[in-house]
Amino acid sequence: MSANIIDGKAIAGKIKEEAAEVALQLKEQGIMPCLAVVLVGDNSASKVYVNNKKKACEAVGIDSISYEMPEDLSEEELLKLIDTLNKDEKVHGILVQLPLPKHINETKVIMAISPNKDVDCFHPQNVGALHTGGQGFLPCTPAGIIELILRSGYSISGKRCVVIGRSNIVGKPVAMLLLRENGTVTICHSKTKDLSEVCKQADIIVVATGKRNTLTKDMVKEGAIVIDVGMNRDENGKLCGDVDYAEVSQVAGAITPVPGGVGPMTIAMLMKNCLTAVTIQKILK
Ligand code: NDP
Repeated sequence: MSANIIDGKAIAGKIKEEAAEVALQLKEQGIMPCLAVVLVGDNSASKVYVNNKKKACEAVGIDSISYEMPEDLSEEELLKLIDTLNKDEKVHGILVQLPLPKHINETKVIMAISPNKDVDCFHPQNVGALHTGGQGFLPCTPAGIIELILRSGYSISGKRCVVIGRSNIVGKPVAMLLLRENGTVTICHSKTKDLSEVCKQADIIVVATGKRNTLTKDMVKEGAIVIDVGMNRDENGKLCGDVDYAEVSQVAGAITPVPGGVGPMTIAMLMKNCLTAVTIQKILK
């Protein structure tokens, strides 16, 4: 048997099309959705991410304003910029690209962004709302994973879900969203005993470890849905995930490739969050 390949590029494309329709409707009401993107320093990977976000905004019809700040920008200056953007009524979403240079306290910066403009869903108020089932922003990569599963026609309700990884960015929030969808969720990590046995019970496995071949064929139940969040490089420099794709795709029912699986979803969900930001600010007025 060979697994269905979940096409993240196509699903992300559809979400961006839907976002473009909403952006157009907002424009017809005289509202121009706007995302402010702040980049500090010259981390080359961050530059690529920021550029991709700007391009997506352009394609969807969201204004993006970039603030490319020098590496030696002080924490105080960055907090001042965030304060200005928080107060600017034309700016709906604020994104500060992480990681920040070492002399800047990331937690302080995340806390400074208005929760109503926090399109990355990193502010503790939004993280809290995620856990208590409140409305508002959803974290981009985890929410993208849920969309991949549901839009591919699979249900989560009642399914045994195993998440490998417990980071604040992927593992924990995706577990919370699977729970929201009525999955029965187990979170695994580097100290988990008998990982293979735990995974074998799962109908849905999300792997987010940042380690190649964390999930191998012998750990997967026939027909399980496998979502690979990992972004690693193999010995030839080729992008690969955390799952042994060639082997696991022989037993899984469905699988996301790397590239072309979870990756494109993150930016698509960011676009959706920018439009959610407009709604939130309309309600607040
Ligand atoms: P972190 O390094 O923050 O977390 C990794 C987690 O995996 C930790 O909880 C760790 O456990 C666990 N882990 C590591 N090795 C093992 C193992 N052998 N067995 C079981 N658990 C293990 O990573 P992130 O969550 O930030 O990212 C994970 C991957 O997803 C990375 O490759 C990253 O690049 C990718 N990513 C992709 C995105 C996308 O848009 N496609 C977005 C964000 C991330 P412990 O807590 O015990 O240390």
